[in-house]
Amino acid sequence: MMFDAEKIRKDFPILDVHVNGKRLVYLDNAATTQKPKRVIDALVKYYSEENSNVHRGVHFLSDKATTLYENSRKTIAEFINAGKPEELIFVRGTTEAINLVASSYGEVSVGTGDEVIVSHLEHHSNIVPWQILCERKGASLKVIPVNDSGELDIEAYRKLLSSRTKIVAVNQISNSLGTVNPVREIIRQAHDAGAVVLIDGAQAVQHSNVDVRELDADFYAFSGHKMYGPTGIGILYGKEKLLDSMPPYQGGGDMIKNVSFEKTTYNELPYKFEAGTPDISGAIVLSEAVKYIKEIGIENIAGHERELLEYGTSKLSEIDGFRLVGNAKEKASVISFLLDGIHPYDTGAILDKTGIAVRTGLHCTEPLMKRFGIPGTVRASIAMYNTKEEIDALVNGVIKAKKMLS
Ligand code: PMP
Repeated sequence: MMFDAEKIRKDFPILDVHVNGKRLVYLDNAATTQKPKRVIDALVKYYSEENSNVHRGVHFLSDKATTLYENSRKTIAEFINAGKPEELIFVRGTTEAINLVASSYGEVSVGTGDEVIVSHLEHHSNIVPWQILCERKGASLKVIPVNDSGELDIEAYRKLLSSRTKIVAVNQISNSLGTVNPVREIIRQAHDAGAVVLIDGAQAVQHSNVDVRELDADFYAFSGHKMYGPTGIGILYGKEKLLDSMPPYQGGGDMIKNVSFEKTTYNELPYKFEAGTPDISGAIVLSEAVKYIKEIGIENIAGHERELLEYGTSKLSEIDGFRLVGNAKEKASVISFLLDGIHPYDTGAILDKTGIAVRTGLHCTEPLMKRFGIPGTVRASIAMYNTKEEIDALVNGVIKAKKMLS
């Protein structure tokens, strides 16, 4: 299929919105993506024609909702090439997925004197749950350093690994800088040291082909809302053997087999980790987003985004005083930058006046910003529906911001 961003844009109603009298230029896709009409329609259809609770009833609608919910699990399992749908747990998002693993797997695998490794590039969601675990268990947190380009120091990582390492948790693509991390190598080395690995794929599933079995990831986490799906739903993938060995994360309905006051027994996978009524509509609608991505083709999306990344980086770099933050050799579609002597917030506010949505600040990566000695960045993050014209608008907006603020 020929990739046609203009045609794709027509699938996203919100792209017609005007902001401050200007047509919206949405470049805040790493925070959340917009939703195609078929995803919105699927949500309306669910509540108009299919709504019922799952796994509980014998009636027609309950059966229908349950089938759609479980079919969605299958579709998403295929998308990341999981061995079985039962290895996918529906959660609220990446944050909950990581907390689930830190709390449950951490409980049985980490003890006093053990170590957990994260990287300096992590989102707070992939730092704080591990800190809480380490505090609880008397374990320590080790950090893989980054170089000035925003790449992980793999040699330093190798030296951090030891028999004390129980868990390594790193992202596949950095939300702040766009760095693509060598996760296959990271996983291989962790396994050699006897540790398990959680990959934070929040920024990877929508930009690259993810194959959890080829990666040999033990756990893989991502959020629906960053991949053209709804908010409130995400996935934790875990190898069956590991998930089976873990205690429940939350107690309630659906996660039990039998309940008595003397002894309660737990349900099998994946239900053991899905206590209470899940986000049924979110789960069903997420599979619609996955089908949409598959139809367009992740390679086509990645190719288009790479073109815009290169175009935007080169155009912006011509601006006097423009400083790119993060120029890893392997990068996904994030342009994080600063203008000399100008606070990122001010640049963002001027861009907003011209209808351009970018994110400014720490991007939930405060340690990383400290590492670079900066108060944050302006971040333009690109999705499949962005165009060269929009990148030109960004460049013009940045030139204008510079003139107004310096
Ligand atoms: N990790 C990364 C790399 C992210 O970009 C994000 C979202 N910005 C998260 C984790 C947290 O995702 P969520 O808020 O959807 O749980």
